[in-house]
Amino acid sequence: MSVIEKVDNNQPVKAVEKPDYRKYLNVYEFDVELPSGIKLKIKPINAGQLKKFMTSIKDDESVKELSQAMYEMIKSSIVGDFDMGEIYLNDRPALILELRKVSKGTEFQFEYKCPKCKSQSIISEDLNNITIIPMPAKMNPIVQLDNNLSVQLDYVKIKHEQEILNMGMDSESELLLSVIAVSIKAILSPEGSQENLSLRDRIYFTDNIPQQLYTKLTQWHDDYHFGIDMNKSIKCAHCGEESEHKMDADNFFF
Ligand SMILES: [Zn+2]
Repeated sequence: MSVIEKVDNNQPVKAVEKPDYRKYLNVYEFDVELPSGIKLKIKPINAGQLKKFMTSIKDDESVKELSQAMYEMIKSSIVGDFDMGEIYLNDRPALILELRKVSKGTEFQFEYKCPKCKSQSIISEDLNNITIIPMPAKMNPIVQLDNNLSVQLDYVKIKHEQEILNMGMDSESELLLSVIAVSIKAILSPEGSQENLSLRDRIYFTDNIPQQLYTKLTQWHDDYHFGIDMNKSIKCAHCGEESEHKMDADNFFF
């Protein structure tokens, strides 16, 4: 039997007869409550998952591939048979935040370029200080667009985004408009409520309403927003200029 002499307290460590370290790898599980109130259990992103994520991300990464890689990474760290599709899009940054905290710690550094003097600096943020915005207890799902048209809206879930990505939506602007479209549950017109519209129909509707009516839809999403507050006020160390910077949860693992 071999003996390793050097450990912290200088006690020799005996070699185990039947090596089995695996049971010590699955002990890290954490309870998480998302801003919507959804509760689940997560485990840290391990080195293998992160490697897989990194290698699937290239410089010319499309929106679809990036979302898919992120989807797979999050999915593999949810413990049990929780249906990830049921998580709200607004919850996702908070879930990524929790995963980042348990996997890599709470200190997050990012590059910042001052909008005034253009000097660059590295900013450190303690992720425990990020403000969580809970889902509003009450919301009015009806938005009146004009004298004839109203819509009934609802929050968008990850499964809805998957539906959009599977349709081939692959640019940020297309995706944004489609997320607004998929949030439309019914179109209310003088004839009555038009429900069960296909996603394509709802995208057509959203594409073709006047800009000022479209703004009413995005306003609803802003008014009832929940999730995490990624805005950080930064004071430039060089010129003293204070400005708002929006951190990106997608960068938590880089
Ligand atoms: Zn500056």
